[in-house]
Amino acid sequence: MGGKILVVSGPSGCGKSSLIGEILKSEKDIYFSISTTTRQKREGEREGVDYYYISTEQFEKEIEEGAFLEWAKVHDNYYGTSLKPIYKALSENKLVILDIDVQGHAIVKIKFPRIVTSLFVTTPSQEELERRLQKRQTDTQETIRRRLENARKEMARMDEYEYLLVNDDFDCTLQAFRHIVHTARLKVSQNEIDTFINRW
Ligand code: 5GP
Repeated sequence: MGGKILVVSGPSGCGKSSLIGEILKSEKDIYFSISTTTRQKREGEREGVDYYYISTEQFEKEIEEGAFLEWAKVHDNYYGTSLKPIYKALSENKLVILDIDVQGHAIVKIKFPRIVTSLFVTTPSQEELERRLQKRQTDTQETIRRRLENARKEMARMDEYEYLLVNDDFDCTLQAFRHIVHTARLKVSQNEIDTFINRW
């Protein structure tokens, strides 16, 4: 498996999805993992594009069956990364991008210590995050309150990441993100090292 993994975490509303969307338009050989969730579909979101939306019962059944590479409960909903497509993409030497939370990152890092690059994206301040969540007009005030609370918890684990991007100016952030994508591909797995040494 020559593929690599780039984990992108950060509070909801920090701009992760827009950044990843731009990268997907212009970079080749990337597999963006579409997560499965039990949360309600937001206005404008599409099944199989943003998430696969399933019931809590179905999600719990899939946990039992070992279908997830990792899963976590975030804001009282389940979110998980399906295992099979990740292994397929890695075997095709792709860069796998995972938009997952801090809990998911911790698991993925343990499972693939050599091939994971980690990036945390956030806003310049809490106030700015709240402003963006309010502007989005997709969440209730209670949901926004919970998302802000969760953001503060996630920020406390920022030191577990290799890179930090403060998404103030979108174009500048995108440029930096592109560099990180390119660098993530250059990680070298144990298998690649062994193969190279044998050949050398
Ligand atoms: P949202 O509801 O805003 O789409 O996502 C909420 C949080 O769940 C975000 O921090 C996002 O990165 C995280 N998330 C989305 N999919 C997954 C997943 O498959 N696994 C984990 N652990 N977190 C996820």
